[in-house]
Amino acid sequence: MHIKTSRLDTIISKKIVFASIVLIAVISLAVWQRHYLIFNVLMSGEAPELMQRSVESPNSSWYDDYFIVEKIDDRTFAIGEPLYHQQNFSYLIEGTARAVLFDAGPGYRDIRAVAESLTNLPITFVPSHFHFDHVGNTVTFKHVAVVDLPHIRKRVENNALTLSWYEHLGAIEGIEAPTLTIDEWLPVSGTMNLGDRELRVLYTPGHTNDSISLLDTSNGALFVGDFIYPGPLFAYLPNSSLQDYLEGSGTILRETSTDSSLFGAHRDSAPGIPVLSTQDVEDLQQTLIAIKAGTATGKGSYPQVYKVNERIELLTEPPWLQNW
Ligand SMILES: [Zn+2]
Repeated sequence: MHIKTSRLDTIISKKIVFASIVLIAVISLAVWQRHYLIFNVLMSGEAPELMQRSVESPNSSWYDDYFIVEKIDDRTFAIGEPLYHQQNFSYLIEGTARAVLFDAGPGYRDIRAVAESLTNLPITFVPSHFHFDHVGNTVTFKHVAVVDLPHIRKRVENNALTLSWYEHLGAIEGIEAPTLTIDEWLPVSGTMNLGDRELRVLYTPGHTNDSISLLDTSNGALFVGDFIYPGPLFAYLPNSSLQDYLEGSGTILRETSTDSSLFGAHRDSAPGIPVLSTQDVEDLQQTLIAIKAGTATGKGSYPQVYKVNERIELLTEPPWLQNW
């Protein structure tokens, strides 16, 4: 068989074009589905081993061989899970008519029993957001209150909200996304009345688009979930947004004062509960402004790691994928 050189060139060029199109399509698909690939395919999907028992602060006491409890004041308690690798802290906030449990951890053990041991009042569970390490999963509550956002409300039927994999991410540890039965909607900027104590609901997205913080109006304490805590802040997840993070920082700084204590949902090491100040939020805000302006230098590729201050890092997507 004889093929003329010019025809051979044409065949080769067509093959190169075809191969390039296929390659671009595969790369585009991988980029588009990057969160799915990272969290569903690359992770083990198994429950992690528990960590060694740590030496805790004298202010904390062990509830059992898993949970610790630290009294912040007579009616506010931090419930910690120091053996879980993410070292979650949830908060029981008590009024005179009811108590709120803000976050419930990953549900490897029964946090509801711990909360019920600390109060005789009815407990309303409020998730700071829907990630698997905050919603309790198999641990269920009689009363559940969720922030009233249109993108959440429109998915609810008969008060039931089934979480999707991307907002729950439990596949990372082999945890199935639960269905929450909601009996109270929390308007953004509205207040939860606990009797003689009020919590204002602040919409503080960034980490996710459903993240809230609760402001104790009596003393300015703010419970911030995963918005900020000592350690790495995750701003590259499926529904993270740096623009939202920047706006959320502004909301917190407007609503708090310099002497406010900010209680986060994770700590990076023992002992103690994860308490920050508004200066940390100012540092985060400045970091976000510098990233947006292109003047901040991050390390690594995916995620990019930006230093916020000595205690906090911000993990983002690389600049060409950042969501501003
Ligand atoms: Zn989270």
